Amino acid sequence: MTLAHVVEPRCADAHPALPAVTSARLTVPLVDGRRVPYANLDHAASAPCLEAVQDAVNELLPWYASVHRGAGFASRVSTRVYEQARDTLRAFVGAHRGDTVVFTRNTTDALNLLARCLPRGTSVVLFDTEHHAALLPWRGPNVRRIPTPERPGDAVVALEDALRGCPTGPRLVVITGASNVTGEVWPVTRLAEVARRHGARIALDAAQLAPHRPVDARALDVDYVALSGHKLYAPFGAGALVGRADWLQAAEPYLSGGGATRQVVDWGDRLGVSWSAVPERHEAGSPNVVGVHALAVACETLDRHGWEPIMTHERLLLDRLRTGLATVPGYTGLSLFGPDNDRVSVASFTVTGQDPGRLAAVLSAEHGIGVRDGLFCAHIATRRLLDRAGSTQQRALRASLGLGSTVEHVDRLVAALRSVVADGAGWNYRLIDGRWTPDPDPRPLPPFLTAG
Ligand code: PLP
Repeated sequence: MTLAHVVEPRCADAHPALPAVTSARLTVPLVDGRRVPYANLDHAASAPCLEAVQDAVNELLPWYASVHRGAGFASRVSTRVYEQARDTLRAFVGAHRGDTVVFTRNTTDALNLLARCLPRGTSVVLFDTEHHAALLPWRGPNVRRIPTPERPGDAVVALEDALRGCPTGPRLVVITGASNVTGEVWPVTRLAEVARRHGARIALDAAQLAPHRPVDARALDVDYVALSGHKLYAPFGAGALVGRADWLQAAEPYLSGGGATRQVVDWGDRLGVSWSAVPERHEAGSPNVVGVHALAVACETLDRHGWEPIMTHERLLLDRLRTGLATVPGYTGLSLFGPDNDRVSVASFTVTGQDPGRLAAVLSAEHGIGVRDGLFCAHIATRRLLDRAGSTQQRALRASLGLGSTVEHVDRLVAALRSVVADGAGWNYRLIDGRWTPDPDPRPLPPFLTAG
């Protein structure tokens, strides 16, 4: 099994001043038989792996063993790696020293965990623009959903009103750092200030913010931060919930099983279980030490590198992308708070007369570009923004940039869109199981999928 012919030798050339990603030299096949460098414009879905993370994982692989319970030396090494990662995550999000770090599979898992740990009767307030991961874990009579605001200031006023109407008792406000649909940055500090005044805790969904900006929970004054490794240049299914320990400690374990227990005894008619304290309380089962290490190394690498060059790179590319997209006939950009609002490098849009799913298929099959189409797991928000933009489309297209993005990728996307609008697609496409697919699709799969 080899990837040699699809990934050329390592080279930190995408942008020498930035941490290198492992896919910088990935090439993909086109329907006309050519191979081109892959233009990954889908960082908001999952970001490529950092080379530093790949190296660290390779180093750990011979060592990984059971965490916490093994007496062997490799187990002790793995346990050290796993526990050190908690400190790294705490530092990465600027958490308080006493905050707990629970490792999860991803942001979805982290927010569902928090939802399961709320004290009885907690009022939850959130905006209906949330990604499903932050929207769906809280449902029921104690949840207030604030309709999509049109300006950051409206969001602040609406939150104040919603909190004023909450019954006494524990309260939680759920806020997204940056929208996965538009990239727009939410006024977290102002919202947190309102939440505090009304005695509410704040949970920050940092899935889209953390890969693009430093997150400082103390400066933002938020109580919980949830994030995903695979959006932060670390693959392997690890995420984290970082925050105040008390609610998590008082709750029943999220999962029942080994690792979450101190002692189990047979009381005849039932089992007597004494659960561990947080964070182990909510980490039943064998933990993902490799994934957690990957996540921690990604965080360290980004912090060590410094955010200024990363943010500058993304700002320049985003400006170029937005300027270029505006030249595509029929282009309509989606926006929550208007074109001037601060945003991370994500842009969603429609093109008049072009089905977003078909357009995404054309971009992939004929231009080697990866983008996302659909409603981006934020159905309510995306539909509302399509409505607001006056688009007749039911879905949108999203281009999202990151460390793996280059000027050439952006220019290729803009040129490809202009060419499809002007001349149509150069191939046939048909809907198969709801997805537009080249017909025929002669692109060969990599050998590791076809061998054997
Ligand atoms: N929150 C936001 C803003 C997201 O963009 C995403 C994923 O796209 C999630 C949460 C869920 O992340 P995950 O799928 O890693 O759980």
